Amino acid sequence: MPVSDATTRFDVLVVGAGSAGCVLAARLSEDPGLRVALVEAGGPATDPDILIPQKWPFLAGRSYDWCYRTTPQHGTADRVHEWPRGRLIGGSSCLHAMAHVRGSIEDFESWGALTGSARWRYAGLLPAFRRLERFSGGESEQHGVSGPLDVRLPEAEISPLVRSYWAAGRQIGIPWLGDHNGGRLCGLAPNSLTLRAGRRLSAAAAYLDPVRARPGLTVLTQTLAHRLAVSRERICGIEAEVGGEPRLISARMTILCAGALGTPLLLMRSGIGPATQLEQARVSCRADHPEVGENLHDHLLTAGNVYRARRPVPDSQLQHSESLTYLHSEDPSRTTGTPDIVLGCVTLPVVSERFERPAAGSAFTILSGVTHPTSRGRLSLTGPGIGDPPSIDPAYLSTAHDRTLARQALEWARSVGGQTALSEWRAEELYPGPDCRSPGDLDAFIARAVITHHHPVGTCRMGSDARSVVTPELALRGFQDCYIVDASVIPSIPSGPVHAAVLAIAETFAADLAPSRLS
Ligand code: FAD
Repeated sequence: MPVSDATTRFDVLVVGAGSAGCVLAARLSEDPGLRVALVEAGGPATDPDILIPQKWPFLAGRSYDWCYRTTPQHGTADRVHEWPRGRLIGGSSCLHAMAHVRGSIEDFESWGALTGSARWRYAGLLPAFRRLERFSGGESEQHGVSGPLDVRLPEAEISPLVRSYWAAGRQIGIPWLGDHNGGRLCGLAPNSLTLRAGRRLSAAAAYLDPVRARPGLTVLTQTLAHRLAVSRERICGIEAEVGGEPRLISARMTILCAGALGTPLLLMRSGIGPATQLEQARVSCRADHPEVGENLHDHLLTAGNVYRARRPVPDSQLQHSESLTYLHSEDPSRTTGTPDIVLGCVTLPVVSERFERPAAGSAFTILSGVTHPTSRGRLSLTGPGIGDPPSIDPAYLSTAHDRTLARQALEWARSVGGQTALSEWRAEELYPGPDCRSPGDLDAFIARAVITHHHPVGTCRMGSDARSVVTPELALRGFQDCYIVDASVIPSIPSGPVHAAVLAIAETFAADLAPSRLS
């Protein structure tokens, strides 16, 4: 792309105003001596539906969604899965389901082992988890109350259906937990939600809006990063497109926050990625980085174990999916250790595109899934241009581990769904249906029923080994002055939704790693 004369130079350039980008722009611009730019392909969040928690499932596909799609997935009956991602200020935090779940202590112990850094262990991340939140349940060793992000533990608004689901869970031995973010994860609890006054609180609303007037902070919307600007081994900014015009935006430090898909795509368009794949996509290779785009993984949910309701299911006062339940498939009464499966009660019927959806209010769902899938896929380019669609292959259900646990998770969902505590709600099981019992039938149902839990991660993993894309300090290997801080650096997915972990990574980078490189 030709570079125009209009050159702007900043101290820090944050590429992507999503969940992580909003944290970094707000935290780094606290220093009045720094000129910070935040660049975003989309515009501001103007759709009023974004604020309404119950509307989240209906935001996908709107003008501010990147509307990604996977390749046909062999493990899911050759289905193509829609992957919404936010293309606006606030990024995917404007589309997400607002559940705030840190993960289990063991999830982060594995990050510590992979990076050789205590910073990424649970104890290392705990100050960031506390610093980011304003927890409705009060201050404690585990919880903070002064952060930008309201984390609300709902009480009175919980659906009566979900209360019966909890009673059914207790009937099969699942213990009460009460809070996903208190250090332990196994047991029954309401979902903590990022809500303020009953409205969605995106990362932009929590972090960015209060600081937009800072003189040192420049927010550039409708600015699409095509490639990194590279001078020898230095990343010195981006080549972007603003209103159809090329623009070079340069900075002392460039921080990539374009997300688990956007960041590796930006690297690969810049010639940084697996050499043979770049060649196939007609991109000249600047640095052979074999793991850029690799290690793509995601959580799946089986949608669902659906029951026709005996009486109308009241509308959720929250976001429909009010309670995720983490447990051990071998022993649901166990409270310690990292869970291997998850269940979730939803006040709506949830089905994949392969099944007929009952009317809202006439049915309810128990979702089930695998917390630590071992299937690993890959993201790659199909061509050099920003308009060339990426090839997104998460290799869903490609391991026996994932298929076996998905079946066990569904069996536990049915076990909870069949308890007497739910009999006042349950008329009959609609899906998978009473005839679906054998392992083969269950596998076939799961392949047609699974949907994404919307948690793709891992495509620029951090690690202490030379093949990892970023170092434990989140520096892009092989180049100076470039860091990656978003869901792409997560080396292995935590047990639950990943937003809390993404924010904690960004908080940790801003507090512990960026200052020494900027001084
Ligand atoms: P994003 O927030 O996606 O930000 C990336 C930003 O970079 C975007 O604003 C994008 O427009 C911008 N960008 C990308 N490419 C370019 C480019 N070339 N030039 C300029 N800008 C660019 N997680 C939870 O914990 N709980 C949930 O309940 C939950 N539900 C979800 C439901 C949905 C429908 C979705 C989509 C996600 C959900 N998630 C949930 C996941 C969570 O929202 C994401 O993991 C998280 O927001 C990722 O943050 P990020 O900063 O890595 O990327």
